[in-house]
Amino acid sequence: MPEGDSLHRIAARLQPLVGRSISASSPNPRGRVTEVAGAIDGRRLESVEAVGKHLLLRFEGSVTVRSHLRMSGRWTIGPADAARNGTPWLVLRAGAIEAAQWNGPVLTLEKRSTLRLGPDLLADTTDPVVLVDRLRRGGAGRSLGEVLQDQRLVAGIGNMWMSEALWEAGLSPWLPLASADDAELLAVLTWARDVMRKAVVGSRPQRSIYRRAGRPCLRCGEIIRARGQGDHNRTAYWCPGCQRGLSPPAS
Ligand SMILES: [Zn+2]
Repeated sequence: MPEGDSLHRIAARLQPLVGRSISASSPNPRGRVTEVAGAIDGRRLESVEAVGKHLLLRFEGSVTVRSHLRMSGRWTIGPADAARNGTPWLVLRAGAIEAAQWNGPVLTLEKRSTLRLGPDLLADTTDPVVLVDRLRRGGAGRSLGEVLQDQRLVAGIGNMWMSEALWEAGLSPWLPLASADDAELLAVLTWARDVMRKAVVGSRPQRSIYRRAGRPCLRCGEIIRARGQGDHNRTAYWCPGCQRGLSPPAS
């Protein structure tokens, strides 16, 4: 699933459309039923912003479109006259540029002015110190891995960056939040923020633990484990040899 850095990268690539009147269409019937194209066709695009794992496109007249890619969705940006292979849910055209949204799966007109999301980890204005307090208040009684992926507390981290950041910090995703001290939480958030912000403009670093279950840990040689975690059962990766906190509770 694309995480916050991918969404920021898409938002950056869509900036050439900002300030322009958009010609919108929905070639795909599943895109058509969202009624997004009709609501924005001919309107000026005022801003494109990534908030956590959501992309918000604000149009004149207070019309906001929200896109969430989950596992299957994607955006492409290219010349308007390029041949297309398939039918996007939404096509935005301005002059010679075309942006296309494929496979949804979440493409909606947003009526509420704000989503129920915590601060975007990657935003310039977000201070990781403030996030530590937020996690403490909202995540009591839960495991570290779950809390870091709770988009209402901090927006942008998915199971990949959660697993990588906790491996870096030497903390298990199964460690209760209360068993990590503030300095440790701050280190995890700061590391994730730095790496994800760099990934927006450059390439992602080599991953140390994500999708490496069954292989030896790069730090201690112990075999890496993986297991679904939390309400959404997203796979957490951890090394029992060098990450503090024991294995998941038996289920
Ligand atoms: Zn290890």
